[in-house]
Amino acid sequence: MNILFIEDDMIETMKLKRTISKLQLKHNITEAKNGEEALDILQSGNTLPDIILLDLNMPRMSGTEFLSVLKADEKLKFLPTIVLTTSENRADLLECYRIGIAGYVIKPLKYEDYETKLQSVLNYWDNNELVKG
Ligand SMILES: [Mg+2]
Repeated sequence: MNILFIEDDMIETMKLKRTISKLQLKHNITEAKNGEEALDILQSGNTLPDIILLDLNMPRMSGTEFLSVLKADEKLKFLPTIVLTTSENRADLLECYRIGIAGYVIKPLKYEDYETKLQSVLNYWDNNELVKG
């Protein structure tokens, strides 16, 4: 899959890449450091990602701000977006589902647990029919 990974924390980006290479998964990762950068990529590119993995707490444009813009766009609103966060805040979760997400995944603190959880999330989406923009 082509995955747009929106995350401001470099360590988190390294963790995802490490998981994908360690498990030998064939996914392409495009990185964006915040919502603004992600929108630039989505609006300028000719191919759209299959799924978006989205952090919530980011500078410049937060995850929920990004989601609102995404879901208001006639073309981009179809992209399955999965929130990947450490926030167990129920208000965040409700707000994300209200705007429109395909999933809300809380990142485990232990690396082994992170790897297992990410593998199952990515496998699930790999088994889905995707929009193929
Ligand atoms: Mg963050």
